[in-house]
Amino acid sequence: MAHNPPRIDLFSDTKTRPSMEMRKAMCAAEVGDEQADEDPTTISLCEIVADLLGHEKALFLPSGTMCNQIALAVHCNPGDEIIADKTSHIFNFEVGGASAIAGAMIRPIEGKNGIFAASQVEDALRPPLRHSPKSRVVVVEQTSNLGGGSVWTLEMLNSIKDIARNSDLIVHMDGARLMNAVVASGISAKDYASCTDTAWIDLSKGLGCPIGGVLTGTRAFIEEAWFWKQRLGGAMRQSGMMAAAGIFALKNNVSRLAEDHENAQVFVERLSQIDGIELKSENIETNIIFFTVNTLNINAVQLSSSLLDQGIRINVTGENSVRAVTHMDVDRKSVIEAADAIGQILVRNTS
Ligand SMILES: *Cc1c(COP(=O)(O)O)cnc(C)c1O
Repeated sequence: MAHNPPRIDLFSDTKTRPSMEMRKAMCAAEVGDEQADEDPTTISLCEIVADLLGHEKALFLPSGTMCNQIALAVHCNPGDEIIADKTSHIFNFEVGGASAIAGAMIRPIEGKNGIFAASQVEDALRPPLRHSPKSRVVVVEQTSNLGGGSVWTLEMLNSIKDIARNSDLIVHMDGARLMNAVVASGISAKDYASCTDTAWIDLSKGLGCPIGGVLTGTRAFIEEAWFWKQRLGGAMRQSGMMAAAGIFALKNNVSRLAEDHENAQVFVERLSQIDGIELKSENIETNIIFFTVNTLNINAVQLSSSLLDQGIRINVTGENSVRAVTHMDVDRKSVIEAADAIGQILVRNTS
């Protein structure tokens, strides 16, 4: 059966497709063998991202998941403990990678919208006993995905950093959507990353690239990370074609994230008018919206399938819960159309 992609795809910002201009930049990229440090475009991308985040060095990897997994593998010895929010990507969506690859365990803590206080980290720290695992890393997710795109403030990150410095704890930032936080808050990536030892940004989410994440840290950290990149099969060859998309995106697709955030606001304003829809939070800071379908007449699966009949896709996350994410391939008009379609489906199913 022929597959028709949804006309309006709010499933995730991973659904963004590379624009024609980005594809042209990819075609024109100078390339070489990345494994041998001979790919000039990949080297440039790494320099750009290291500079953007104010870390010494950077490493280009095929995915954000590999950025997290390699960072944890470098930081942890088997038996170590990683402190992370219970909603975090590393705890929920990386196939237990921290235990399978780094041999480390995750201590989930309960933040608010994915964001926790320094005092909670302090409470979670293990005492230096022969019986206890060693608390090794704390992971902050900027922005928090399951937290509804919530943004860590600089103050909160600084207080995490202070606790970490006093406790010999490494701070790792899962910055899949760090640039959304930067655009929403006006605080630079460098300032956010200054609270961390290692961090990364995803190129394949709102930035619109087909592939890739860039991991940053000290020179020594990146040297160690290279062994893991090679070991896991993440070392590439003419990766410059993919790195060129990243360079293009960092030049052209960052400030426009503001449009995605405005569209998320428009979507939320419309949803808040619909009887039977309950927003998880009315305060949407970036591009991720969670809501529940709060009526006996229709559940989230049925809503989603009615929408799909009209070419509109949302992400069903539970029997009555839905996630929608705005991004560059969904314009203002489409966001309004999607919200209105949700309203019409609910009216049809209640009258
Ligand atoms: C998407 C995502 C990842 C993983 O990135 P991939 O490039 O899809 O592997 C990690 N953390 C968060 C918060 C994400 O949203």
